[in-house]
Amino acid sequence: LAETISTFNCSADSKNTAYYAIDTHDSIEAKITGAHSVHRSKSWQNPDLRRQFFSSLLLALEHHKAALKTIYCSESSLSEARFEREFHRMVHQITSYSNEGCILAQRRESVELPNRILEKSWLPIGPVVVFGASNFPLAYGTLGGDTVGALAAGCPVVVKGHSLHAGTSNFLAEITAEVLATHRLPSGVFSHVLDKGYEAGQRILLDERIKAGAFTGSISGGMSLFKFAQNRKNPIPFFAEMGSLNPVIVLRNSNSGVENWKNLANAVTEDAGQFCTKPGLILVPIERLEEIKSKLREELERNPSYPMLHPDIYNKYEAKLKEIDPIIPLLRYTNHTPWNGDRAIASCTLQDFIDSPILHEEVFGPFTCLIGYSNLEEIERLYCCIGGQLTTTFIGIQPEKERIWSIAQEHSGRLVVNGVPTGVEVNRNMNHGGPFPSSTDVRYTSVGEASILRFLRPITVQFSSTDL
Ligand code: NAP
Repeated sequence: LAETISTFNCSADSKNTAYYAIDTHDSIEAKITGAHSVHRSKSWQNPDLRRQFFSSLLLALEHHKAALKTIYCSESSLSEARFEREFHRMVHQITSYSNEGCILAQRRESVELPNRILEKSWLPIGPVVVFGASNFPLAYGTLGGDTVGALAAGCPVVVKGHSLHAGTSNFLAEITAEVLATHRLPSGVFSHVLDKGYEAGQRILLDERIKAGAFTGSISGGMSLFKFAQNRKNPIPFFAEMGSLNPVIVLRNSNSGVENWKNLANAVTEDAGQFCTKPGLILVPIERLEEIKSKLREELERNPSYPMLHPDIYNKYEAKLKEIDPIIPLLRYTNHTPWNGDRAIASCTLQDFIDSPILHEEVFGPFTCLIGYSNLEEIERLYCCIGGQLTTTFIGIQPEKERIWSIAQEHSGRLVVNGVPTGVEVNRNMNHGGPFPSSTDVRYTSVGEASILRFLRPITVQFSSTDL
């Protein structure tokens, strides 16, 4: 009997009944061989074929949407409304990346020099392994931005499905395989691997036929896999998008009304705070600490509590709160539903924060830390503790005139002015990534059409003028 994997429904507090077969050594080998031969044959490098495939995939996803929703909600405990938003984002990514991928992959640039001509073009980098995150089964999952970006660039993809939403991942893989078969395209264009632990993913990444890796997830997972990619005999690019604290800096000149606190509190608690862009640190002028604390508390208390994605994630969150509490006392709001993460807030001075390394890492759940600062200059010391961030948000008037703006710019991938960092637009002007440790390659975005550039490599052909 094949070994299997199953998932858990936190909303219903029960195990899901479906079981999914995990891959064997031989099936993984066959999938990598398939991806390699697709790349070798160049069969996936035809932009017209890719366009036809993507438009059929969109129809198939729409056709299977209701069944997908049922599996998604039962495995992630995310709401139907959240499914709709994520489904829309997945579809938008497929549409926009498939168009842009064809344009980028067909670019040609030519320069004529006195006795030679240099022609530059871009080739698909080769087979790509993709690891998605637990908190976005669609947008960063099996058919999420990384997979679609690599496919759009003309690369075959091997997805390591996420064990916490194995059914959603498996179903998306079946839909994709069906569309490939309908178009008589080789199955090696896209393959899907399930495992009970980390071995399969590491093995795929170490295979010399794999030419790049894309990852969304925790810092520990991303860094472990990044090291595997770098220690190969032939090291390859490994684009890991990881966690972040996403500081929010409230300036002294802010006349922040109630709306701001409501929006901030919602960004902390919505979907149990399980967002990479959740505001995990809110810095306020020290003289306003008590006033802002009481406003935020009111909002946090009023907000609904949500089930977490999985008992393992709930347990990690609980363990983190237990570690923080004796150092910086927490205010917690519980609703006594199994697996719902408590909304929690810590508050302290900037110096207390700096002295508490436990607070320097992302807490994945509906928690935030409110910090009172005396002057903006001292916030520079905060970045020394937390390192690079996906985002920094400013609340106030003309933050770009403050010196802290350029410090934040140096340490962040995206600056938000008078808004919240959650809600990442899929757009060619988006940058989603940031200096380490928020991502492993600050030069590339993982969201928006520009993410396709990660999976293309430049090549120059040099002609002598006399050859032409
Ligand atoms: P995770 O535990 O790191 O898992 C991500 C994937 O990597 C899973 O498939 C996991 O395998 C695999 N994996 C993890 N460690 C591994 C290792 N050492 N060797 C081989 N494979 C490994 O992350 P998660 O809990 O799913 O996701 C939540 C995290 O993602 C949060 O920190 C969140 O902030 C971050 N996130 C970041 C972004 C971004 O764009 N920056 C977006 C969304 C989420 P298994 O399936 O076996 O667990």
